[in-house]
Amino acid sequence: MKIAVVGCGITGAYLGWKLAEKGNSVTIFEKRNKIGKEVCSGLISERLWNFIPKNEKLIKNKVNYCRVNFPNKTVTLKFKIPFVVLSHAEMDNYVADLAKKSGANISLNAEIKEIPKEFDKVIGTGGALDTIRKNLKLKEPKNYLGLLCYVNEKDHSDVVDAWPIGDGFCWRIPRGENIEYGIMANPKLARMQFDKFAQQQNFKIENLKAALIPQGLIIPKNKDVTICGGDATGLTKPWSGGGVIWTLTSANILLNAFPNFNSYCVS
Ligand SMILES: Cc1cc2nc3c(=O)[nH]c(=O)nc-3n(C[C@H](O)[C@H](O)[C@H](O)COP(=O)(O)OP(=O)(O)OC[C@H]3O[C@@H](n4cnc5c(N)ncnc54)[C@H](O)[C@@H]3O)c2cc1C
Repeated sequence: MKIAVVGCGITGAYLGWKLAEKGNSVTIFEKRNKIGKEVCSGLISERLWNFIPKNEKLIKNKVNYCRVNFPNKTVTLKFKIPFVVLSHAEMDNYVADLAKKSGANISLNAEIKEIPKEFDKVIGTGGALDTIRKNLKLKEPKNYLGLLCYVNEKDHSDVVDAWPIGDGFCWRIPRGENIEYGIMANPKLARMQFDKFAQQQNFKIENLKAALIPQGLIIPKNKDVTICGGDATGLTKPWSGGGVIWTLTSANILLNAFPNFNSYCVS
């Protein structure tokens, strides 16, 4: 079958890889001139290796604990399955290479504005602002804002910190070669809350990066055109905003339903 995948993030690259491996003719369209999401903490459960071949080179640090800092109490949670800290951009490129090796064609500088007509199947994996979702006139998810910055200080410890704030939270991630601070919050309040957090934790915000974190599951009822992925379908973890494991899980559900997208739909 001739398949268009719109977006070459982790979802698009993964689907492109798996669908090309099954002998389909796959084109992945990516609007940017390069692959790799830069605004992401890349804190991902080691369950990742159930989806993609393990690659030690991607790992910057390993994390076993999350310390949740409530105003009057601190709780330390031990992860049943450890987490790895990766560069999300490097992971995207690694999976995009798997897609290319299995025969998928990746077209860069190729922004898709309307549902492409010359394909048997079209899958929107364009993330928070997915165009296919808009073309299908689906409900838009609720958006949180994610902000993050790095402090140039080595930290190889295995504890991430979280601070609940309103209906979001702030975090500190030891990335090995540096430390990441970030926030997920209401877009109108995020910057102000992050400034306050930086003052409390005594770090300087430099090279601030921002991206949307959508929430609220949406899947169309259409047998040939669909959307997939944590961000296009609003399928990110309600509390942490983490999306990579969820995105790969939903991609596998879609692959099991393939070629009839209707059996992957929920109303
Ligand atoms: C600050 C922040 C921190 C996060 N931290 C974590 C974390 O620690 N762990 C975790 O699991 N998740 C985390 N996430 C969530 C995670 O980044 C996303 O869930 C994940 O990247 C979604 O992947 P995706 O492939 O669905 O979308 P994306 O990574 O957004 O990829 C979509 C791609 O589609 C392209 N595109 C969009 N529209 C078009 C178009 N019309 N035509 C062609 N191409 C198009 C885009 O350029 C992009 O390359 C974080 C998110 C943020 C914002």
